[in-house]
Amino acid sequence: MMRALNRTNKRRTLIFGIDGGTWDVIEPLMKRGVMPCLAQLNEQGAWGDLVSVVPVNSAAAWSSILTGMPPEKHGIYDFFSWHPVKKKRTSVNATWLPRPTLLDLLGQTGRVLALKIPMTYPPWPISGKMVSGLPTPDDESAFTYPSDLAAELNPLIEKGSAYRARELNREGRLLILRQLKAAQRSLERMTDHLLKDADYQTCFVVARDIDELQHFFWDVLSGKDEFGYRPLVDEYFRSVDQYLARMLDWAGEDARVILLSDHGFGPVEGVWHLNDWLRQKGFLSLIDDYENKGDSTELSFGIRVSYAIRRRVLRQMKRLGMKGSALERSLEALKMRSQRYTDLGGIDWHGTLAYVGNVGEEWLPVYINLQGREPHGIVTPERYESVREDLRQTLDKSEEPAVLAVHRAEEIFDIEDPKNSTAPDLLIETISSAVQSDFGLGNSKAYESIGNRNGCHRRQGMFLLAGPDVAPQQDAAHLLDIPATILAWQGCQVPRHFCGRVLQECIPEVTFSDTRTTVESTAAEKEYLSEEEEAGVRQKLESLGYL
Ligand SMILES: [Zn+2]
Repeated sequence: MMRALNRTNKRRTLIFGIDGGTWDVIEPLMKRGVMPCLAQLNEQGAWGDLVSVVPVNSAAAWSSILTGMPPEKHGIYDFFSWHPVKKKRTSVNATWLPRPTLLDLLGQTGRVLALKIPMTYPPWPISGKMVSGLPTPDDESAFTYPSDLAAELNPLIEKGSAYRARELNREGRLLILRQLKAAQRSLERMTDHLLKDADYQTCFVVARDIDELQHFFWDVLSGKDEFGYRPLVDEYFRSVDQYLARMLDWAGEDARVILLSDHGFGPVEGVWHLNDWLRQKGFLSLIDDYENKGDSTELSFGIRVSYAIRRRVLRQMKRLGMKGSALERSLEALKMRSQRYTDLGGIDWHGTLAYVGNVGEEWLPVYINLQGREPHGIVTPERYESVREDLRQTLDKSEEPAVLAVHRAEEIFDIEDPKNSTAPDLLIETISSAVQSDFGLGNSKAYESIGNRNGCHRRQGMFLLAGPDVAPQQDAAHLLDIPATILAWQGCQVPRHFCGRVLQECIPEVTFSDTRTTVESTAAEKEYLSEEEEAGVRQKLESLGYL
């Protein structure tokens, strides 16, 4: 009995994440022969649509994949949240994830290689090795576990693979493709290096850049290709397919293979400056001298540049021991100015009932400025319900073409009292192909046709399971079903807090136990990034359009 179990456990597991993956893009690519390896897996596997969590973004979704929990249980709704003491926006990070994570549990059955999974910075000790994913400040930071691994990997990372500020003209888009390819080549080199010596049982890698590519090339992917990018975009997907083939070689014929997206993708035709809309409707006030500072889109390029310069200078000053100088003080002023935009600094909180703090895609999150919960809250708990209802009805009745439905937090999340939760108080479900929202302030129009992105997230993504014990079929699943299925399939006990369903119908030969173990999850001690790390994270997220 023991021997049989051990033999089963020697099978390797490949978990291959496709950030923003959707069959809408992948299927035509398979048909045209661009992704032959994925096409073959698709024929042999169980596959289908994967419904993600809301809000629909990488931070919330990858946190759910890593913890097996919905956002209301792990508490991460986006890349940014309020710092409870400093009362400013701060980036969330891996220390916020409740433990044990999927990686910790998989580590109990064999060594794990975790490569570029979003929300794994700072990396933590696992049974194996970890190279942290988005948002990791930069390649000089402590982005690996064990930490000395970074020095081995740094020479393998191509110069020019880091994201930087860009505009969506022809030059800019070609630069994006060059950067994405350089990042893909760097990932391949790191993978080859890491798989050389250690005997891993599980490899979990994420092709994160597909999300990025789709944000900027959705027009090309949906057939509008006036500048002839198609061959270059195809070439990129072909390289991802070849990378998948490389990973399948490592995994071996009897491997368990799990492909999954964090969310799907679709077209976007406009941006809704929701804070400006809230101001027009009387729910939000701006500080007196805020007006006429120009449009946020215009300013964002300047902010990106100022962050980049500031970080470089700060690092240099640290080396030279120049802390406390006049230069540092003027850099502080620069920081203050950029924070007006990224930290919602233009909002007059004394006159604000509701606001938007994060970028929204398909499901747009809105917060009530609740006293006691929000750092600058003015809405008393007694008034909460009437303010929220007033806003809900204003949204419902408004002429805004994008609004499909407005949901209260407790209709979406498993929470008793939205006032005691950090979940968005309202979620605006938008019609597909309509808008994404930002938190820009001071724009003359609340709506604009989109400037630099033509694709954005959708709740519906994709999954695929393959292996000798998988029954080929089309199925549908929820994002949370995947981590539960991975654990059960690998022969691990599935803890109760991994609340998804094990996809038994896809793996009918194996009978999974229904009982869940009571491994109590522990909320990790939340830590906050250093100022330098924080600036690095912001710079990265800014260039991706999350700021
Ligand atoms: Zn994503």
